[in-house]
Amino acid sequence: MPFTPFQNQAYTDFGKPENAQAMRDAIAKVRAEAGKEYPLIINGERITTNEKFQSINPSKKDEVLGVFQKGTPELVDKAVEAAARAFESWKRTRPETRAVVLQRAAEIMKRRRHELSATMVLEAGKNWAEADADTAEAIDFLEFYAREMLRYSQPQPLTAIPSEFNEYFYIPLGVGAIIPPWNFPLAILCGMSSAAVVTGNTIVLKPSSDTPLIAYKYVEIMEEAGVPPGVINFLTGPGSKVGDPLVLHPKTRFIAFTGSMEVGLRINELAAKKSEGQIWIKRVIAEMGGKDTIIIDEDIYSFDEAVSGVVTSAFGYQGQKCSACSRLIIHQKLYEDFAEAVIEKTKALKVGPAEENPNMGPVIGSGAFSSISEYIEIGKREGKLATGGTYDDSVGFFIQPTVFLDVPETARIYQEEIFGPVLAVSKANDFDDALRMANNSIYGLTGSVYSRNRWHLERAREDFHVGNLYFNRKCTGALVDVHPFGGFNMSGTDSKAGGRDYLLLFLQGKSVSERLL
Ligand code: NAP
Repeated sequence: MPFTPFQNQAYTDFGKPENAQAMRDAIAKVRAEAGKEYPLIINGERITTNEKFQSINPSKKDEVLGVFQKGTPELVDKAVEAAARAFESWKRTRPETRAVVLQRAAEIMKRRRHELSATMVLEAGKNWAEADADTAEAIDFLEFYAREMLRYSQPQPLTAIPSEFNEYFYIPLGVGAIIPPWNFPLAILCGMSSAAVVTGNTIVLKPSSDTPLIAYKYVEIMEEAGVPPGVINFLTGPGSKVGDPLVLHPKTRFIAFTGSMEVGLRINELAAKKSEGQIWIKRVIAEMGGKDTIIIDEDIYSFDEAVSGVVTSAFGYQGQKCSACSRLIIHQKLYEDFAEAVIEKTKALKVGPAEENPNMGPVIGSGAFSSISEYIEIGKREGKLATGGTYDDSVGFFIQPTVFLDVPETARIYQEEIFGPVLAVSKANDFDDALRMANNSIYGLTGSVYSRNRWHLERAREDFHVGNLYFNRKCTGALVDVHPFGGFNMSGTDSKAGGRDYLLLFLQGKSVSERLL
C-alpha cells in the first residue's frame, strides 16, 4: 500500500487554551470575510447570475456570510455538458492519480481545519466540537476513499478456465448529480463528491442553499489539490428550481442524494423516467430521514452513562442529525426514574450562539424553526411536556431542548421525523414490547439498546431493523470505516457511507474474456 494505513482523525481538545484560542481566531477570520460574493464554477469558469441568495448565520440571522448565485436550468445544462466533456479524460486518469488528489485535499483540510470548522460554526450553527467532528469526518472520507480506490483498481479475482485470459475490472459511470444536505455540510458533501470523483466520474455538485459557503471551500480545496476543470462543477440555487433539470438531464448517469424522504422519493421517481436522448437507467443513491430510537431495558450497566448517551444523542447539534435519538423507550420498571434523570440533564443544557460554544446552538433556519415549533405545539397535545417547549427567533433560530413524556405510538411526534431538539418518551411493558415499539416506523436508520441482558442484546441484533445499531452507547457519532453508515426502509438505499462497499456504488464492473488460440 503506497499510503500509510487508514486512521480516523483525532478530535481537537478545546479544553486546551491554545486550541480554544485557535478556534476563536478562526471564527474572527471567517467573519472578517463575511458578505463576499461567490460564483458558480462550471468547467473552472467563475460565473455570476442576475439572481442571488444569501447564506446567513442562524445564530444571528441579520449576519450575511456570503452572497451566492441562483443557478438556472440553462446553467444546469452547461454544467452537465462540461462534466460530460471532462469525463472523457478524467475516466482515463490513473486511479493512483485520483487517489493522490484526494490525499492532497485531506492534507489541505488538515492545514485549514479550524477555518473550515469555524465556517460551520457560523454558517450551520454547530458548536465547536460538532464542527470539529464534521471536519474530521470529511478528512476521514478523503483518506479512506483514496485507499479504497487503490483496492478497487486491483485485478479482481476470477475462476480461471483453460484457453482463455479473463479479466474483471471496475470502470466509472459518467456524470453524477451530487445533492447533499446542510446538516453535515462538509463531511457528507465531501464524502459523496469525493467518492464519485475518485472513482473516475465527473460531477455537478448542488449544495444545500443553507450552507453554500462551506461547500465553496470544499471545491476550492479540491481545485488546489489538483482536480482538473470540469470534474467538479459547482452549481448553487434552490433545489426546487435546479433539482429537476439536473436529475432529468439525459447525460446525468447517477444521482447521489442525502436529505429528506420527500425530496429523495421525488428524485427516485424522476430519475426513473427516460429523458429524450437518454441511453441508460439512472442509478440513484438516496440516503434519507430517520426516527431513531433508544431502548432502555430494565437492567442496565450504568444509569448515568445511559442518561448521558440519550441526552447527547437527542440534543447534539440540536437534534439535527439523521441519527439523532428522537424516541426514548423505557422499560416500565425504570420509566419514572430514568425519564426524570433525562429531564434533569436536559434542563442543564445551555442554548446560545454557536460561536460561544454552548451545548446547543440554533436550528438551521426559518423553515426548520417553524416546522419544529409546530411539532412542539402538536406534542403539547399528544404527550406531556416535561421540559423545554419554548422557542425564540428574534435574534437567531433558538429552540429549547424539549422532552415529552407518555407519548403514544400513534402520535405524530412518535412517527414523523422532526429533525430538531424534541424527544418523545414512551413506556414499554417488557423488552419484547420495546423492540416492537422501536420497529414501529417507516424509517430504519439508527438505534441503540442499553441492556445488561445478553439475550436481549442478541434479539435486538437480529430484530431491531436499522442500518446502524448500537449497544450500550449513544446512537450518533458514526466513524468512517468503523461504523459504515446508512439505513433501511424509508431511510434510504443503505449505501453505507464510510464503508468498504461504498465506492462500488459509483462504479460498474466490466468482464473481458480473450480466447487463447
Ligand atoms: P432536503 O430539504 O431534502 O435537502 C437536501 C438537498 O436536496 C439540498 O441540497 C436541497 O437543496 C436539495 N433539494 C431540495 N429540493 C430538491 C428537488 N426538488 N430536487 C433536487 N434536489 C432538491 O434535506 P435537508 O433539510 O437538507 O436535510 C435534512 C434531511 O436529511 C433529514 O431528513 C435527514 O434525516 C436527512 N439526512 C439523512 C442522512 C442519511 O445518511 N440517511 C444524513 C444526513 C441527513 P436546497 O437546500 O436548495 O433546497
